[in-house]
Amino acid sequence: MDSLHRLEEIFTHFPGIGPRQARRFVYYLLGKSPASIAEFIKLIEEVRKATSECPECHRLFVNSSKQIICSVCADPSRDPNTLMIVARDSDFESIEKSGVYKGLYFILGGTVPILDKEPEKRIRLRTLLERVQKDCEPNSKKPLKEIILSLNTTPDGEHTANIVKDALSKIIGKDERLYSIKVTILGRGLSTGAELEYADSETIKNALSNRK
Ligand SMILES: [Zn+2]
Repeated sequence: MDSLHRLEEIFTHFPGIGPRQARRFVYYLLGKSPASIAEFIKLIEEVRKATSECPECHRLFVNSSKQIICSVCADPSRDPNTLMIVARDSDFESIEKSGVYKGLYFILGGTVPILDKEPEKRIRLRTLLERVQKDCEPNSKKPLKEIILSLNTTPDGEHTANIVKDALSKIIGKDERLYSIKVTILGRGLSTGAELEYADSETIKNALSNRK
């Protein structure tokens, strides 16, 4: 495969981008001056270097002052007893933008397609279970009271919510320190097939207050 087609193929792996759009991206870039291409490449490298994955919530954040954890996890005004589980950084962004949620987050890193047999390769399930157990250790500053599953109401999102809920129920049932954790699912203020990333603030607010 020549380099033009290799670049085109890379763009087809971008979320929501099909082969036709990928080809348009390639020709758009080819129409740019060498200087603006160089600037584009430099910017991608800079963003990559400036970004860290938060070891607590696993979201990517621009780490300008070399903090260890992200500003949300480090914020003492956030409610440490509530943990919201979302699939991707973009879902985190829409919920934060709505301003209606004041607890902490955990980013799963994706969803599990319905017929997939190895969910652990798709999402941070093991890491999540470890975090929940760690948060409930004696002397923990953030004993969890509620875990809110906020996944898209698409088939993959609902399948993923079930996998996570089952895994959480297993550890909650085995360890008495975890007995009091309530696991809730974002209410159906979100219509079937809805994607959190595109939900407006009012919808997110309703879905959050209708969780069960
Ligand atoms: Zn964080």
